[in-house]
Amino acid sequence: MTNVMRRLLGREYPVAVGGDGPYVIDAAGRRYLDAASGAGVSCLGHSATRVADAIAAQAHTMPYLYNAYFTTDAVERFAEALVAATPAGLDWVYPGSGGSESMDGALKLALQFHNENGEPGRTRFISRRQSYHGCTIGALGVSGNLIRRSLFEGFLPPHHFVSPCYAYREQGDGESEADYVRRLVNELEQAIIELGPENVAGFVAETVVGATAGCIPPVPGYFQAIQAVCQKYGVLLILDEILAGAGRCGTYLACEQDGIIPDIAVVAKGLGAGYQPLSAILVSDRIVATLAGGRGFFFHGHTYNGHATAAAAGLAVLQEITEQDLLANVRRQGELLREALTDKFNQHPHIGDVRGRGLLVGIELVADRESKQTFAPERMVWNAIQGTAMDNGLLCYPGFGTVDGTRGDHILLAPPFIITEAQVGEIVDKLASAIDRAIAGTA
Ligand SMILES: *Cc1c(COP(=O)(O)O)cnc(C)c1O
Repeated sequence: MTNVMRRLLGREYPVAVGGDGPYVIDAAGRRYLDAASGAGVSCLGHSATRVADAIAAQAHTMPYLYNAYFTTDAVERFAEALVAATPAGLDWVYPGSGGSESMDGALKLALQFHNENGEPGRTRFISRRQSYHGCTIGALGVSGNLIRRSLFEGFLPPHHFVSPCYAYREQGDGESEADYVRRLVNELEQAIIELGPENVAGFVAETVVGATAGCIPPVPGYFQAIQAVCQKYGVLLILDEILAGAGRCGTYLACEQDGIIPDIAVVAKGLGAGYQPLSAILVSDRIVATLAGGRGFFFHGHTYNGHATAAAAGLAVLQEITEQDLLANVRRQGELLREALTDKFNQHPHIGDVRGRGLLVGIELVADRESKQTFAPERMVWNAIQGTAMDNGLLCYPGFGTVDGTRGDHILLAPPFIITEAQVGEIVDKLASAIDRAIAGTA
């Protein structure tokens, strides 16, 4: 019996009772190596004592105060540490409790910026196919994830989608990287012109595409060219780093590796490492100055914005990342993981692509390696892999609709930042046998 309305109604779930570094332990005593950090969240693993202690200490001192009346030392120090971790240019932190919530806030921030700036007509956003920005109506409204939108399409705001930067499928044969970038950037420029630049508030993109299409990093030069077009037309660049940020890609923000700083970035999942629900909108000075010089406050706010206990957890997570030099480990183990997967699946008939950045890694499955044809969606190969991996004591994050919302299967890997080389080997071995068993089992 349960009173919990579960994700899959009617499914039995194992009960998790404990954690040991990157391992999860269930009520039957089984251990699972968590190669996905849940859904890209638990970047310090499941037994980070120092973070738990920081939470307890804050809860004993001052658990929460409404931020319309007070600030707290916890929130101030968290914001200071977060700004220190991120590149110069994003100097303001608007804390929240989850990715979708902060993405909605980011959209409203862009709208208010243009309003204060004397351009209230800029109310449209452009985003990309095969993207996910959250499940609240605003964030879902700019998400290109067709499955998640499907039931609510009629209630969603007008949207305009352009192509993702998905080289494995969409870069032409014989098309150079530079030509591919030019084609994508032209598409964005045409979209802005079509909507009328005076109507466009922002362009929204995941720096590295996450769960919708299986970890697709942009090709070199893409975001620099995209940013130049945005700037040409006064369109704000809003990067969704809810999954890819907070160190997951080996630099604190993933976009540092693309040589750009957006106007607004949103971070969430790894920010509280799962110890507290925590997110943040990172905002450039120009935007904050414009609001300060206009109405003087942000027309937005949730009761839990600036939660002291969540901020204490976020600060402790940032301290762990710095003191254990975890970004260096993310870069090192990420490279090892991608190399090991590439070696292992070099000749595999059903692995089409291994890709990613840092410890955000995607594997795209195919029925046929040459033609890149996908498995029949009814086979639900992705779903079978989740089961066979769990049987092997491995947690990964498979998904479907990789190519166009319907066709395609992929596996997302996002191990905790504390993962060791031996554990990387364990992931690859367990995953390889899980994939083979799942494909055979659904044939
Ligand atoms: C998870 C995710 C979101 C939504 O965040 P929630 O915390 O689930 O609301 C938005 N964008 C991306 C890229 C994500 O991975």
